[in-house]
Amino acid sequence: MAFTSFGGTLPLDDNDTLYYHMANDGTDLDRYHQLRILSAVWSAWEYHLWPFRFIHTEDINKADHLTFWAKDDIITFRDGRQVESDFKFLKNPGVLAVQFSAPSGSMILNDNYDYSLDAKGPNSFDLEKVMKHELGHYMGLGHSKAPSEIMGASYDENATLTEDSIIGVQTRQAKRLQIAATNNPAAKRFTKHFVMGVIDKPKRKRSCLQRLGLKR
Ligand SMILES: [Zn+2]
Repeated sequence: MAFTSFGGTLPLDDNDTLYYHMANDGTDLDRYHQLRILSAVWSAWEYHLWPFRFIHTEDINKADHLTFWAKDDIITFRDGRQVESDFKFLKNPGVLAVQFSAPSGSMILNDNYDYSLDAKGPNSFDLEKVMKHELGHYMGLGHSKAPSEIMGASYDENATLTEDSIIGVQTRQAKRLQIAATNNPAAKRFTKHFVMGVIDKPKRKRSCLQRLGLKR
């Protein structure tokens, strides 16, 4: 296993439902496509983290997690508020995006770079991959050394969300998943099912189930 842990509070400890919001718009894609990608990325993680639910809200005050874009140190939200960015891209020009751990939970994307849906063209980055990586941090993962893994430390256009990070995030959330499973027999079956679904080798399967407290 190559996944590592990211510091900070796990976002999912207290609530089964988490609301996310995009607080302003990047310059490369229209809002419709930005939200399509953002919701696809949340869904990709949600799929592996039942019973947690991640829901988009247009109400910034209801949101647990904010995604916003910054070019320089002052950013303007869609509601007109201006705030100073937590992270200075001008001083850290090589950084594509930043994710703060829970509970503040913001993801800040560097709008000095070019983003697209498919990363075609020079110096263009696949927004889905960048967002998926940052949310992996929010879910409690650090950087991974596994090849072509979405949690790799630097951008890789071929990176995907692999078994390694899925097991990593499920392990970090194991206590909550276990509580949900204990309280609901159907959930227990489901938890077992999706844990087993991502692992091929019986030995690794057993050790993962042991970590989740589902098998001795
Ligand atoms: Zn990272």
